[in-house]
Amino acid sequence: GMPAAPPPVLAPRRKTRQLQVGSVSVGSDSPVSVQSMCTTKTADVNATLQQIAELTASGCQIVRVAVPDTDDAEALAEIARKSQIPVIADIHFQPRYVFAAIDAGCAAVRVNPGNIKKFDDKVGEIARAAKDRGTPIRIGVNAGSLDKRLLAKYGKATPEALVESALMECALFEEHDFRDIKISVKHNDPVVMVRAYELLAAQCDYPLHLGVTEAGPAFQGTIKSAVAFGALLSQGIGDTIRVSLSAPPVEEVKVGNQILESLNLRQRGLEIVSCPSCGRAQVDVYKLADEVTAGLEGMEVPLRVAVMGCVVNGPGEAREADLGVASGNGKGQIFVKGEVVKTVPESMIVETLIEEAMKIAEAMTDAGTP
Ligand code: SF4
Repeated sequence: GMPAAPPPVLAPRRKTRQLQVGSVSVGSDSPVSVQSMCTTKTADVNATLQQIAELTASGCQIVRVAVPDTDDAEALAEIARKSQIPVIADIHFQPRYVFAAIDAGCAAVRVNPGNIKKFDDKVGEIARAAKDRGTPIRIGVNAGSLDKRLLAKYGKATPEALVESALMECALFEEHDFRDIKISVKHNDPVVMVRAYELLAAQCDYPLHLGVTEAGPAFQGTIKSAVAFGALLSQGIGDTIRVSLSAPPVEEVKVGNQILESLNLRQRGLEIVSCPSCGRAQVDVYKLADEVTAGLEGMEVPLRVAVMGCVVNGPGEAREADLGVASGNGKGQIFVKGEVVKTVPESMIVETLIEEAMKIAEAMTDAGTP
């Protein structure tokens, strides 16, 4: 058959400098990557590596670890060496930990210019060490820890203040001919955050790391992040993303991946197309959709599965999907690639869909896709 055309995207990616965060390339046409941050004590190497393994399995591509203490800095070398994905050290107050992280072989170091005034004098030394090791620096500005001088100038963490803080710090690194930089300007208000990134994107060609900071518990944080990242990624702005949730980091990764999939910036895995149900439904659609989702969890192939409550839109959607069911009269018509392959009683719908999904997945894997 004809090779499938790549799915449409809302905008071409913004042109940026490219950089390497370990094995992951960042910027311009490199795929947008998903990051998260460990919640373990970094000094607890086993717990941290265990969490990194879980994050990797859930589709995390770059992981960040906090370095508040000497013990944490000392753990970095082993973590960086044993992690399956690149590790970024997150440094707030002590410039000496920046050197430790670079020496430890971390894939990048995040610094917060608002929190380390001592940094300004150390930039030359940091730039030299980072350049020698090929370690990129993320300049991570955060509304909650904005540089006091800028807070005084702007009165609060406005988009302009966030951007000025980031670009001031960049200028210090540029003086030392260091441009292996990624920038973030996080704010908890998606509107302020979006405006800040738009301004920043217009004023530099560094890759950008997107984040809504302190976005909140899972439900609120998911929506805030999806709205804000959607507004930016739909303009081609954003090279790495991190969804911040007051929830386990694996959840952040799932949300991040789902955002990218929704914008066709990442190949879809399993996608359930299910109807909201209505007065016409002849089956419990919520239950059916949940059971199918649970039954197919972890499938590695891009599969669109339609779960429809009745025959109004049911057959049409089910036909457009790789696999689907349209219910009616206590039965389910099972569609595969647009053809009704069988009609089964309601009680058999879930297991039949799972069975058919496995067959399709096998055929896809044999054919070498993806
Ligand atoms: Fe209602 Fe049928 Fe549409 Fe589902 S598919 S929302 S049950 S009309």
